[in-house]
This record gives sequence, structure tokens and C-alpha cells, in this order.
Amino acid sequence: QESERESMFIVNEWTAKYYHDILHNDADGRAVGMQYFRSRGFRDDIIEKFRLGFALPDRRAMPREAIAKGYKAQFLLKTGLCYSKNNDNNPGKETDPESLVDRFAGRAIFPWIGMSGKVVAFGGRKLDKETKGVQQKYVNSPDSDIYHKDHELYGIYQAKKQISKEDRVFMVEGYTDVISMHQCGIENVVANSGTALSIHQIHMLHRLTKNIVLLYDGDAAGIKAAMRGTDMLLSEGMNIKVLALPDGDDPDSFAKKHTPEEFRKYVEENQTDFIQFKTDVLMKDATDPVRRSDVISSIIKSVSVIPDPIIRAAYLQDCATRLRMDEKTLLTKMNRFISDDI
Ligand code: ATP
Ligand code: MN
Ligand code: MN
Ligand code: MN
Repeated sequence: QESERESMFIVNEWTAKYYHDILHNDADGRAVGMQYFRSRGFRDDIIEKFRLGFALPDRRAMPREAIAKGYKAQFLLKTGLCYSKNNDNNPGKETDPESLVDRFAGRAIFPWIGMSGKVVAFGGRKLDKETKGVQQKYVNSPDSDIYHKDHELYGIYQAKKQISKEDRVFMVEGYTDVISMHQCGIENVVANSGTALSIHQIHMLHRLTKNIVLLYDGDAAGIKAAMRGTDMLLSEGMNIKVLALPDGDDPDSFAKKHTPEEFRKYVEENQTDFIQFKTDVLMKDATDPVRRSDVISSIIKSVSVIPDPIIRAAYLQDCATRLRMDEKTLLTKMNRFISDDI
């Protein structure tokens, strides 16, 4: 229902302002929340641009204030900002304002701003650097009538103009990667919380650009992540490049060590065409003919999903050279994939 969705956006907008205001105007907010962002090296202008905030550790603080301002318990629940302490032991009392607690209490707040500028959800990070332990590092809003996780990309609102202008988008894993890259002068960047892109997200990007650069850690896990979900990107006609960062760096740490000029230079010198990247990575370990044949199959499968026949043919030629295979053999293989698909 449209008016309900509207009410959810309104309560999200108020809460984003409330969490942000705490960073500036609350003593604990300044000493703890702002201090956390400073310790991560986030500049003031970036804190404003991403509307970062802090949720006070008192789980009742935000809902108490929201209710006092006239926001309804129902919408604090529907947006997932709060949950009810009464859910289990007090059935029927879920919407009692006294029972609401802040899902993000004690966390640094990263609002998700949708394509149109509305706050659709929140991510909250626990403050201590220690990532193990009882509390999970990040908590995110649950899906709701205004937030479908696989329809959104973190940073899209702040990035969309530059994505179109540069006709290219950088894809990273996390909130802090997006933010640090902006701070390093690279604004055409979005994140997907470390999961593979969905078809909805690909369509959203495709309207802005066909060129995507996947940024990953240089270690084995990063390279594996770079391989995930790429056939769907190719089949939607996206041109994919991969940029492996030095082992041990993520975009956040890398951006902090380098000037914007150095970062851009690293991109231009190290980004690799995805098919070539995949070929090189997989062939390195394929020592015997059977393994080689599996690897070649997987590479030709990726080429076969590319919709443009000319781009497909160009890749096939390139693969023949790289794999030191007869192009006709590869073409037969590819055509089999294509006809299997019909
Ligand atoms: P930080 O630099 O603060 O440690 P990060 O962005 O490097 O954060 P990662 O552990 O690399 O964190 O995770 C990448 C992204 O995956 C996060 O930014 C977040 O969007 C998502 N994520 C990680 N852990 C969780 C979790 N427990 N629940 C939901 N999302 C998560
Ligand atoms: Mn501010
Ligand atoms: Mn990370
Ligand atoms: Mn990180």
C-alpha cells in the first residue's frame, strides 16, 4: 500500500537524521561514534555525504524519541529499525511502543540511500575492531516493503552521476570500501555486501553503464569471489574487467595508502579483461589434459553467453591463441553451449 510505504520512508528519513545528529550534538555520540569514524580516517565531508551516524547503546533511546515525535510503532517495526521485546513472551503486544528496541543500538550507522535519494535501509557496524566474538560485525535492515536487498546497491545514489559520466562502475565488497574510494576521489563505486550480483542489480547498473570493474583482494578468496556470478553479467551484455589488489589489501585499506593519482594509475595498469583473467587463473593449475579440458569448457561457456556475436567471435579468437587451441574446435564447443541453451 502506497501510503504505508510513504510512512516507512518518512520514518527512515527521520531516523537517519536522528542518528547523524547524534554524531554532532550528543556527548557520547561525539566521543564514541564520531571518534570511531575518525579512527578509520573518514573526513567530515564524507561523513556528511554518506549521512553516517551513530545509534546510542541505550536500546530504548531511538524508539522513545521517535514515539515522542509522533512516529508510529507500526512503522518503526515495518522498516525493521526496531523490533519488539514482546514478540515471544507477550503475544499480541508487539506494537506496544514501550516494547520497541533499536536494532542498531551501539553501532556505527551506514544508511542505504536508494537510486532516488530516499533512505531505504540501514547497516550498522559494531565499534570495536575485533571482528570475532559474540556480536556480529554488521547488522542490516531486514527486507521490507521498501527494501529488497537484491534490488539495491550500497552507494548507488552517491555514485550514479559519475558512473554515467565516466561510463564505468567499480564494484567492491563493503561500505567502507565505497566510502574510502570516494575519499580518494573515485566516486563511481558501489558495493553489494560481498555477495554475487542479482539480475535486478545488473539491470540497475546497465542503465548507467555497460562497463564494470570488479575490485577484489589479491588473495585466493578474493580471486574466487571475482569469478562468482560473472556469467550473468556477461549474458546481460556487460563488459567486465577485474582489478586484483595487492595481497592483504581491500579497497578501503588500499585507498588510504595512496593518492587519487596513484589509485587511478594502479587501475589503468592492472585492470584485466575478465575472460583473459579467468583463462590465466584457471589454466595456471590445469596441468593434465582432463583438467585442461574442464577449464577450457568453463571458459568457452562464459564466452558463449555474451549476446553480441562480434564480441563473442573476438573473444573466441583471443581464447584460441591463449589456450593454444584450434579456433574451430572451440567454435564447435561454443555452438554446442549456445544450442543447449535454446
Ligand atoms: P570493515 O572494514 O569495517 O571491517 P568491511 O566492509 O571490510 O568492513 P567485510 O567483512 O569485508 O567488511 O564484509 C564486506 C561487506 O559484507 C560489509 O561491508 C557488509 O556490507 C557485508 N557484511 C559483512 N558481514 C556481515 C554480516 N554479518 N551481516 C550482513 N552483512 C555483512
Ligand atoms: Mn552533519
Ligand atoms: Mn572487507
Ligand atoms: Mn575493510
